[in-house]
Order: sequence, then C-alpha cells, then structure tokens
Amino acid sequence: MRIGILGDIHGNVEALRAVVAAMQKDGVDTWVQVGDIVGYGPEPSTCIDIVRELGCVTCLGNHDAAVLGLLDTSYFNNFARAAIHWTTPRMRPSDLQFLRSLQLVVKRPPFTVVHGSLHMPDQFGYVITQVEAIDSLEQQDTRLCFVGHSHVPSIYLRRDSAPTEIRVDPSSEFEVSYQGYDRVLMNVGSVGQPRDEDPRAAYGLVDTDREIAWVKRVHYDIAGVQRKIREAGLPEVLANRLALGV
Ligand code: ZN
Repeated sequence: MRIGILGDIHGNVEALRAVVAAMQKDGVDTWVQVGDIVGYGPEPSTCIDIVRELGCVTCLGNHDAAVLGLLDTSYFNNFARAAIHWTTPRMRPSDLQFLRSLQLVVKRPPFTVVHGSLHMPDQFGYVITQVEAIDSLEQQDTRLCFVGHSHVPSIYLRRDSAPTEIRVDPSSEFEVSYQGYDRVLMNVGSVGQPRDEDPRAAYGLVDTDREIAWVKRVHYDIAGVQRKIREAGLPEVLANRLALGV
C-alpha cells in the first residue's frame, strides 16, 4: 500500500493541485489529510472539494474547529484570527457539514491520523521536540501515525523495547526506512503554508510494503496564490510569508 498524506492545506489551491499531481505520479492508493484544510488561504471551499473528491481519511484541525466555532480564537495570533473571520462567512453549508463530521483522531490500522498530537488531541499541542514526540508515541497503538500542525516536517522512530530512545530525522525532505521500528510518528509538513524556510509545498508518502517513509517537496505558483490573497483582502503578511516559507 502507498499512503499519500496531505497536511495544513490552508485554502491554498495552487499548492494543493501541484502536490496532488505529484502524488498521483507516486502511485498513491490511500489518501490521508491531517487537518487544517481552511484558514489563511483564499480558496477554502475548493480545497474542501478536492479533499472530498480524493476520499481522504481526514481529521479535524484547529483552524477547521475555529471556523465551526468550536475553538476560542483568542489563542490565535492576529493574522490567524483575521483569516478565520474572513473564512467563516464564506463557508457553504456543505463545507460546514463536512467539517462538522470530522473527528480529532481517526484510527485506520496500520495508521492513525491526528492534527497536532495524540497526547490530549483536543488541546492541539505541537510535536516539535523529542519530549513532545514521546508524549504522542505513548498514546499511539498503530505502527504509523501522521500529524501536521507545526508546518515543519519531521519523523520520529521508536522501538517498543526502548521507548525513550527516539531516532529523529528533522529534514525538510527525506527518505527514511522504518524497518525494525515498532512506532513511526511522522509530521508531514504543510501543503499550503510551509514554515521550515523551504517555500515549496510539502507532502508525506509511505510505502508499507517496502517500509519506507518520505517527505517530498514540490514547486507551485506562489505568485498566483499571493495575488489571490491580496485580492481577497486577507492580511498582506499571509501572502508575503509564502515566498519565504515561514
Ligand atoms: Zn495549520
């Protein structure tokens, strides 16, 4: 099985289309999406349509929850909050119905999907450090778990015999064999708003027969989506940061 994983699409159709085309060439047969389809970007509904057409196994992100009014946006920074206020009234009833149907944690052996961390998933904590990875791995009872939220790719590998010894590969793109490891926690990076100083769109890929995991990067039309962000009246910084990958 080849699992393709999308994360943190954030209303960026240009990035999403480029990534999906690359994943189709990779021969993905199971599609996964780790949350935050909406927020920040100018085309949230089109992104929801694409995720639904692909039949992605999908969990709820914090921006998705904020649009539904399920999350207090006072914890968001000003630009994120402004984007939520822009996005919410533009959602179609079918978009809200779809987002409302999403769960915080979706388990489909051999993998589990959660936006931030399996450790208190409703708190939307980040997996950035090894300590945070261990907290999530403690709750992981499938071999694979896919997360997003930080917009920074990474992979954490663990053997059950040595639960605190974690092998980490934090590169912006990688190919990692997980043969011999019992638990794999993979942050797939962000399709629509990368923050690891690499502006290319990111996605995850796993070949469960060969036991290999990748994060791959794809160029897309950044200028095109920047134009749409400015035309939409979204905060200027949301356009500028895409070119820097921050
Ligand atoms: Zn996000």
